[in-house]
Amino acid sequence: MKHEAVELLSRYLKIDTTNPPGDEIKGVEFFAAIFEKEDITYRVYEASPGRQSIRAVIPGTGERPALILLNHIDVVAANADEWQADPFGGQIKDGFIHGRGALDMKGQGILELLAFLEVKRQGWVPCRDLVFLAVADEEAGGKNGAAWLLEHYSRDFQAGLILNEGGFGLHDMLPDRPLFLIAAGEKGVCRVRLTRTGPPGHGSTPHGDNALEKLVQGLNRLLEKDTPFIVTPLIADHFKQLGAGWDFLKPYLADEQPETLIRVLSDSGMTAIPQLAAILKNTVSVNCLHAGDKINVIPDEAQAELDIRLLPGTDPDAFVAEIKAELGDDKIQVELMEKHAATESPVGTEDFAILKEAHLRHFPDALVVASLLYGASDSRFFRDRGMACYGVCPMLIGTQDLSRVHGVDERISEENMITGTRVYTDIVRMLCRV
Ligand SMILES: [Zn+2]
Repeated sequence: MKHEAVELLSRYLKIDTTNPPGDEIKGVEFFAAIFEKEDITYRVYEASPGRQSIRAVIPGTGERPALILLNHIDVVAANADEWQADPFGGQIKDGFIHGRGALDMKGQGILELLAFLEVKRQGWVPCRDLVFLAVADEEAGGKNGAAWLLEHYSRDFQAGLILNEGGFGLHDMLPDRPLFLIAAGEKGVCRVRLTRTGPPGHGSTPHGDNALEKLVQGLNRLLEKDTPFIVTPLIADHFKQLGAGWDFLKPYLADEQPETLIRVLSDSGMTAIPQLAAILKNTVSVNCLHAGDKINVIPDEAQAELDIRLLPGTDPDAFVAEIKAELGDDKIQVELMEKHAATESPVGTEDFAILKEAHLRHFPDALVVASLLYGASDSRFFRDRGMACYGVCPMLIGTQDLSRVHGVDERISEENMITGTRVYTDIVRMLCRV
């Protein structure tokens, strides 16, 4: 007989909720059947056909504002040919549960579910409403999930605290102790489209105002300018804490100057790691380029699309204005297609201290550190409405495993599911005072 966490995750991973199309209704049915059996009230929300989310509540005394355990039902696509196990087979083998979503984030969804069920099964009355919330469409930006729910049913989602994805534990990051990261913020996202037009012509007679060439020259000017390293307050604190595990940070601990931090990170080669550089910089990535369809015709229009990620404290409009200036060509039109500023939650709160303490109870030698996510998650929609939101997941994995997220052979160990259930249940008990 397998542990309930292992058995439930295996079943959940068999449900294909690849987004698109998402079809999260199948995941909602999975949770609804469990809530029926456990006699827990729930509500289902449908943004569009099949795009469902589910919310279940254990009423509390109301002493404190509600706690939402948030997770997303959808997963990104998996190419079965590249995988050793069937990505939607829920296989349990060699101590691991294999499948798309094991790490992102059906595994954590099950930890949240079991912590939630434990409160109900024990008959505990929490000091705050305890809400389990599994949503659609996180992987495609939340328009059929969290963003839509908060827009249309905001009264159902008022909370003092939301726990979501974005945190994780690494056993091989520090020399001799585990590291747990709790995501207290995430970078902002801007999507920008550049359009340059010019007179068409024959390729045999270049006229000097080729739209594509002009766009490429502008992009070159933009890319040649490297964006500077910026040490935001959250990141300054992040590395101060990490100083307890990494000796090379000692000079920074001594003077706490941002210049010193950048110098020691550069000298140690850390800033060459893209994931690390990303939490210290605003980044621009040119990911789409469209122009021309005949080799002997000068195109009359060229377009590029930029994926821009901004640190807390950087104003999206001001940053886009800088980009416009750096392109150095007034004929390049700059269109802001999407903008979302970075979001952060405070780390000096009682709730945050409890999150740390719960980890340390089970991993006494661990370092537990607040971090900034370089990607985007549903947390931003809640933080935008003034709610504190943290990425927390008490699973201990290796840095290699991070490439399995959205990658090949995603899996989580049975051990992580079993220990994770214990830690997550403690987190919920401590936050709910039961
Ligand atoms: Zn995710």
